[in-house]
Amino acid sequence: MNPIIIQGNNIITKGYKLEHCRKHCAKSAQDWTEQYRQLEELLEDLQITHFINQQFPHLNHHHLPKIALAGCPNGCSQPQIKDIGISGYLTPRLTENPCTGCRLCVTSCPENAITWTDENIILDLNRCLSCGDCVRACPTEKISCGETGWQISLGGRLGRHPQLAEISSFEKSTDDVIAKIRMILSDYLENSLPRERLSQFLERRSYSALLRS
Ligand code: SF4
Ligand code: SF4
Ligand code: SF4
Repeated sequence: MNPIIIQGNNIITKGYKLEHCRKHCAKSAQDWTEQYRQLEELLEDLQITHFINQQFPHLNHHHLPKIALAGCPNGCSQPQIKDIGISGYLTPRLTENPCTGCRLCVTSCPENAITWTDENIILDLNRCLSCGDCVRACPTEKISCGETGWQISLGGRLGRHPQLAEISSFEKSTDDVIAKIRMILSDYLENSLPRERLSQFLERRSYSALLRS
């Protein structure tokens, strides 16, 4: 494939950047493998590379739409600074199963969302980031898997006017994620201003608020 940008030792051949975090990570709340494949298919289907070449006559790296997939809220692929960030989540729930009192769940939680009080486990979902660490730690499934899905954040970027992506919506399945990203990118392809970057477009159209409503 022909390069569209050459920057130092970097040769970029696609009009987008699609990144993911580590494969087979023990911390994963959601497996992103299939979603990554479908996202790549979508970006090719929408011919983003062709569009970006037309949109930016003097194309630079910062013009490329950037999408990152992460398997959990740790966000190792940095979804917080991408146009579109997608992070897997797994929210715990308490079951009727027996509790041994081992307190592995308490020590596993980086957010101090679990406490051992009066011989009982208390789960504070207001503090929980839905990483799933406590679910993996519990030997009896007293703490088990509750709701799972994907968090979509929009509008993150670095550069001259950096900003963190805003949490926009929570999707239950990969199909829902793909449908939403297809809608956003199709809108960008049809309605962006000349030389408007994706993050600027998302901001102008107030997409974060739109998806939340
Ligand atoms: S984001 Fe989560 S699943 Fe992905 S590499 Fe980092 S810790 Fe592992
Ligand atoms: S899912 Fe993560 S943040 Fe939430 S209670 Fe369990 S360990 Fe803590
Ligand atoms: S890890 Fe499971 S069994 Fe151990 S204290 Fe927590 S809820 Fe109980």
